Amino acid sequence: MKNIKDFSLEKLKEEMKNLQEKAFRAEQIFQWLYQEKVKSFDEMTNLSLDLREKLKQNYTICNYNIIKKQESKDGTKKYLFDTLDGNAIETVLMQYHHGFSICISSQIGCKMGCKFCASTGIDFVRNLTTGEILEQIIAVEQDEKIRISNVVFMGIGEPLDNYENVVKAIKLINHPKGLNIGARHISISTSGLVPKIYQLAEENIQCTLSISLHATNNGKRSNMMPVNNSYPIEELLKACKDYIAKTNRRISFEYALAKDNNDNLEDAKELVKLLKGMLCHVNLIPINKIENGKFTKSSNENIMRFRDYLNDHGIVSTIRRELGSDIDAACGQLRRKNINKNS
Ligand code: SF4
Repeated sequence: MKNIKDFSLEKLKEEMKNLQEKAFRAEQIFQWLYQEKVKSFDEMTNLSLDLREKLKQNYTICNYNIIKKQESKDGTKKYLFDTLDGNAIETVLMQYHHGFSICISSQIGCKMGCKFCASTGIDFVRNLTTGEILEQIIAVEQDEKIRISNVVFMGIGEPLDNYENVVKAIKLINHPKGLNIGARHISISTSGLVPKIYQLAEENIQCTLSISLHATNNGKRSNMMPVNNSYPIEELLKACKDYIAKTNRRISFEYALAKDNNDNLEDAKELVKLLKGMLCHVNLIPINKIENGKFTKSSNENIMRFRDYLNDHGIVSTIRRELGSDIDAACGQLRRKNINKNS
């Protein structure tokens, strides 16, 4: 059965024509799905009973069941959702002073094999569809009765490895008749799939691009992120410069500090050399220790020294606030535990 949330407004209009219905019905359905956020076709009360019946026969509205919900003392909430085919995906809701931010998954599992990530070691299952990506936002809004203002693609999966569905999802999240969240409030994080960064630069979407950099030379980066063997740092930064030139958007570089690995002053100096003159920001992430992971968290002293060095040398840098450290905060941990429990 087709997921009705997989369709753009234009495509849904075509679907309506195929059902011998007027195109404006698609606009009404959009209103119910994305403004009213209803959970069934029966709630779409301005549609005829006949149309509602046709919708039920042809589409699913894709409601997720919550398998598990963890709440942190700091207000962070982590969801494990059951997709319609029995797979599990993770979504995290965070509260900031400026509103609610959601971290969503783009794939079931991940192929990239980053050594510091809890998703590594779990088999890649499949890409999420556009509707499944969107449903994470809708399900959390329904559960918490809130309006989300920021979306980050930083959950499980490499978003640019599911390029088409992710770009379609961003367009629906941003669409005034979709979830209507400003493009500047949407961030997409990549481990560095260079050809897709060039492609994204051509999309004319004003979302923020985050690059998981994490190291300043190829030896160290390849050791942490196998993707670097295919797309080394020089090629990655060239693609980033192209993205900045085409979009005029500042890139955010993610740098997870791991003790005795990439957190000393020499690394900070190298990072300054690499990023000097770029329109960018560095987000330092105190790494979360993961089960069986080979990296551990840096000391607070090292983290602050690293940040200060960058700021003193012209690279704007902040330390990401640790949220949800008392629940399974690193991406993939909750899902990993569920898999282990069920295996
Ligand atoms: S950090 Fe992201 S890209 Fe890397 S393995 Fe984990 S989910 Fe995949």
